[in-house]
Amino acid sequence: MGLTLLLSIVLFAGVDLVHADAFQAERDGMISEIEQDVRDTSNWLKRSALDDRVLAAMARVPRHAFVPEELVGRAYQNSPLPIGHGQTISQPYIVAIMTDLLELEPGQRVLEIGTGSGYQAAVLAELGMEVWSIEIIEPLGERAEAALGEAGYGEVHLRLGDGYYGWEEAAPFDGIVVTAAASHIPPPLVSQLAVGGNMIIPVGSRFSVQELILISRVGADEIVTRQVLPVRFVPLTGGH
Ligand code: SAH
Repeated sequence: MGLTLLLSIVLFAGVDLVHADAFQAERDGMISEIEQDVRDTSNWLKRSALDDRVLAAMARVPRHAFVPEELVGRAYQNSPLPIGHGQTISQPYIVAIMTDLLELEPGQRVLEIGTGSGYQAAVLAELGMEVWSIEIIEPLGERAEAALGEAGYGEVHLRLGDGYYGWEEAAPFDGIVVTAAASHIPPPLVSQLAVGGNMIIPVGSRFSVQELILISRVGADEIVTRQVLPVRFVPLTGGH
């Protein structure tokens, strides 16, 4: 009797451990794939490895909590996945390089345009940033708010609306990450970038190759831009 009870406790604990470990192992596999992709694209990125803190944060964030239930089994594939409403959660490699290129320090202020699933916002919060994020599709914004809260990132500031105009009351930002492709660099976002801050944004049309552009504000009236990498994103919508 006592032995049976003990055995079932051990088995139960074992099952739970296996479950937790399975996701950690999958996350670690995802990180290895990101590191390989970074090595393969190092000429574009101008670096052969990412900041360890970015990879460590991504090794902790439960990506499976930000994908639709039926896709949980594919949550740690290094690929974008559909999240409904014609939108996608970005490829982990893309999330990693965009986060890395912002060159953030803990406690800095970051604005994201295109909350989508909430995953990118979670990665930034896990890195220790104060995060503001704007989503234009209401049901996605609501689902992201729930997912972020459940995963322990309830401190992220969320708003529904057109991110083209930024979040004036919370500006300036040390980092701005735009996760949908714009036809041009939105001037309101550039003006909300702090001196010393970086913005990363895909620019180009829906039907052609888009370029990931890094914009650094090096002075009050001076910005420097650099093309990083050809990419493919869903379009930035809205009335601008
Ligand atoms: N960062 C997201 C990626 C989502 S895909 C993630 O980690 O899951 C891009 C998102 O940008 C979509 O949800 C889309 O609805 C949103 N979007 C498109 N145009 C927008 C705009 N003008 N303002 C705010 N969000 C926008």
